[in-house]
Amino acid sequence: MRTARYVADGREHRGSPADDAGVLLDEDGKRHLATEVTFLTPIRPHTVLALALNYAEHAEEFDMAAPEAPALFLKPPNTWIGHREPVVYPRGVEYVHYEVELAVVIGRRARRVPAGEAMDIVKGYTIANDLVVRDFVGDFYRPPVKAKGWDTFCPLGPWLVTADEVPVPHDLELRAFVNGELRQKGHTGAMIRPIPELIEHISGFMTLEEDDVILTGTPKGVSPVHPGDVMRLEIDGLGALENPVVEDRL
Ligand code: MG
Repeated sequence: MRTARYVADGREHRGSPADDAGVLLDEDGKRHLATEVTFLTPIRPHTVLALALNYAEHAEEFDMAAPEAPALFLKPPNTWIGHREPVVYPRGVEYVHYEVELAVVIGRRARRVPAGEAMDIVKGYTIANDLVVRDFVGDFYRPPVKAKGWDTFCPLGPWLVTADEVPVPHDLELRAFVNGELRQKGHTGAMIRPIPELIEHISGFMTLEEDDVILTGTPKGVSPVHPGDVMRLEIDGLGALENPVVEDRL
């Protein structure tokens, strides 16, 4: 099952794609044109965790060795936005790039989950864009708060796709397009640390809550974006997450 959260007619709905292309069907059976709703993040997490350099080829493109232990950081709540919401380009910086990532959505409160049982606590998946200001990246063990924490720097969506529809999450192609041009392509099978290992590691020191999200890292192929660009991120079976980049006018 795939569902989205969105605002239409002045209130929030949870809906699924109807048979007709471009139509959403909400919990009361009401139809909304997908082009006329405002998409929200498909889930409301407590915490969004992310992994630095979980694909070897991406580490190589920055001449960095893969981390010896999972290099974790947080995407704070001010970064979470929905499908089609604008990403605000920070003033006075030189290099902002997108990162297409498989986002794992946790299904229930859990602590100390062994890798062998980890997939039992996965509710589903969505697409994440882990945007970063490269100007502020130090080494990967230094928390990249200013690099990764700008307002609007974590689009999520458009759908929550339940785990039963994604039986093999390590066999998905990821793609990122900027203004229609393919810039990034990879495969979730190339993760250095796969999902069960990540869940075991994280739940070993923190309690995971329902709808918490783990971004599993990005493959090779990042490149700069600028105001006026449109990013479109695709993952097999999860749809496409699209966000424009705009100037900071505040
Ligand atoms: Mg990332």
